[in-house]
Amino acid sequence: MYSTAFLDLPPLASAGGTVRLPGSKSISNRVLLLAALSDGVTDIADLLDSDDTRVMLAALEQLGCRIERLGDSRLRIQGLGASLPVHQGKLFLGNAGTAMRPLTAALALLATREAGCFELGGIERMHERPIGDLVDALRQLGCAIDYLGNDGYPPLRLGNGSTGSLQLDRPIRVRGDVSSQFLTALLLALPLVAQEHPVTIEVVGELISKPYIEITLNLLQRFGVTVARNGWERFTIAAGSRYRSPGLIHVEGDASSASYFIALGAIAPASPGLDGITIEGVGIESIQGDIRFVEAARQMGADIRGEANRLHIRRGRWPLQAIDLDCNHIPDAAMTLAVMALYAQGTTTLRNIASWRVKETDRIAAMAAECRKFGATVEEGADHIRITPPGPLGNGAPWSTGSIHTYDDHRVAMCFSLAAFNPAGLPVRIEDPRCVAKTFPDYFETLFGVCHAAEDAIPVICIDGPTASGKGTLASAVAQQLGYHLLDSGALYRATALAARDAGVSLDDEPALTRIAAALPVSFQEERVFLRGKDVTDELRQETTGGMASQVSRHPGVRTALHGLQLSFRRLPGLVADGRDMGTVIFPGAPLKVFLTASVEQRAQRRYKQLISKGFTAKIDDLLQDLRERDARDTTRAHAPLKPAEDAVQLDNSHLSIEQSVQQVLDWWQGRTVFAAR
Ligand code: C5P
Repeated sequence: MYSTAFLDLPPLASAGGTVRLPGSKSISNRVLLLAALSDGVTDIADLLDSDDTRVMLAALEQLGCRIERLGDSRLRIQGLGASLPVHQGKLFLGNAGTAMRPLTAALALLATREAGCFELGGIERMHERPIGDLVDALRQLGCAIDYLGNDGYPPLRLGNGSTGSLQLDRPIRVRGDVSSQFLTALLLALPLVAQEHPVTIEVVGELISKPYIEITLNLLQRFGVTVARNGWERFTIAAGSRYRSPGLIHVEGDASSASYFIALGAIAPASPGLDGITIEGVGIESIQGDIRFVEAARQMGADIRGEANRLHIRRGRWPLQAIDLDCNHIPDAAMTLAVMALYAQGTTTLRNIASWRVKETDRIAAMAAECRKFGATVEEGADHIRITPPGPLGNGAPWSTGSIHTYDDHRVAMCFSLAAFNPAGLPVRIEDPRCVAKTFPDYFETLFGVCHAAEDAIPVICIDGPTASGKGTLASAVAQQLGYHLLDSGALYRATALAARDAGVSLDDEPALTRIAAALPVSFQEERVFLRGKDVTDELRQETTGGMASQVSRHPGVRTALHGLQLSFRRLPGLVADGRDMGTVIFPGAPLKVFLTASVEQRAQRRYKQLISKGFTAKIDDLLQDLRERDARDTTRAHAPLKPAEDAVQLDNSHLSIEQSVQQVLDWWQGRTVFAAR
């Protein structure tokens, strides 16, 4: 997951390969609640692991539910049945509507029946998302509910610690035209109290997002509760209902998340040798309404082959073509259509999307503002959005780019990653990329796994300099701040030296050293380095290994043998490379080259402190001597000697803190991006 302040996506050129999607958020949170309210034990496979499901899990545990993590994304839930062991509590539900609404309904009913009292709240945005229609419906039933902040919005107090009687003999009326989640909440909660009589719910107003109600009904059935439905206006829960665990239940891949990869397949040229995008874990037999995004994408030109549990997408018609569509049935996935509209001939109109206004953010306003950053003409209405793309397909204006504000809305972030295929070859900046954690924590990693960029489009920052100048620390911090990969090229020379020692090869035997370097069995995992599968991180960092590496690195054969390996680190979204010849030999075209220096005395001091703090003994004079020798060897060798690239910027960090050095490099980098002046 990227936790950086922003993530810069370089211009993307093509896509191809297979993705497996995380579990559906809507199914995951419903299944969690149903399993908790069931008799018996439920094993849940492929559950989504995200902010929203964590919030639900934490709430259920707080309510006394026993949850066991079985590994392999499986979870075991010991059902509580229709009553709770805990009768009071304060639950924090983040910004998870799929936890807030059903828990409100279930806990309001149980608190009234069992003299409980619960407080439910979340983050600020959650307190701006309406819940009044659900509260009104529950109050009709006799539930005591208080607003603890603004009327009509969370936080809420459910129950008042004394028992109340529930009036279940007349139909419960709930509005269906603002959010279908209110109806879902009642459908999930009322079976807990539908004992002597059947319970009927009547929907007031035209029900929106019907497919989500279908998911609810489908899952109720899996947990042993049948609901009789009369059109979309009347739902009757049978008397004597009781949730029963189905034993094992699999969560489908998230169909809304699939929309980004369906769009990707429709937008991106196929990568050489790959035949479009394959999505595993969700297919045309999905119970999720957003699977109908497939039809909308086809209308725009996507070539999609659907199987029960898999989708295969290729670019079909190109450019895409504009559509005019009522999106009430696919409210979440429809946001992806707004970005596809940037690649479509003509003006796309998405209608009947008023619910966008009350989601994680006002999504109509957000999509309009962000689409405009690319040069699109956007008209927004109370319940529609109309998008004309830039360029010859639309308004004729040149494509531009921008820093995409994501409004703590995972879907805004995921949607606009697709703008990195813009024909102008401009990068796209996604602010606060971590927000995708709501439903798809590894979204960007998954995207980079199937996208390709022209090699020279993947940015590289080179940090070269002498031994102990602090390159490693600086490079690693810069990489972390930007979410880039890291190449510690010195580690490759060090690993070659260790491998040579293990094989009994002399450090002067160039042909033998070259053979070792050419097939170096080295791998990197997080911060650790492995040689032939053995963790050699600590040994690699020792002074003696550094000295051996310096001797090994003199040989042109070794340097050539390690060249290709170093280039292979240049992967999306970017690379920070540290060494001696990153800017001069390995990545001569890199857009930022930093030559880091510090006086030899400073470097010796730092190395001394480092060694002492690790419990090693060291003598400052020996260190000075050793550094001078190594500097001399590195700068005077015939092949790729240590020297600043002609276009390198010099940074003397003798009197700078690590933070200051990092900030300086980030400032230089920022100044070289197209986002600099924005
Ligand atoms: O940077 P580090 O101290 O890990 O490098 C160990 C040795 O490997 C250096 O002294 C240098 O001789 C060599 N090296 C190199 N070219 C690089 C990185 C390291 O010659 N790009």
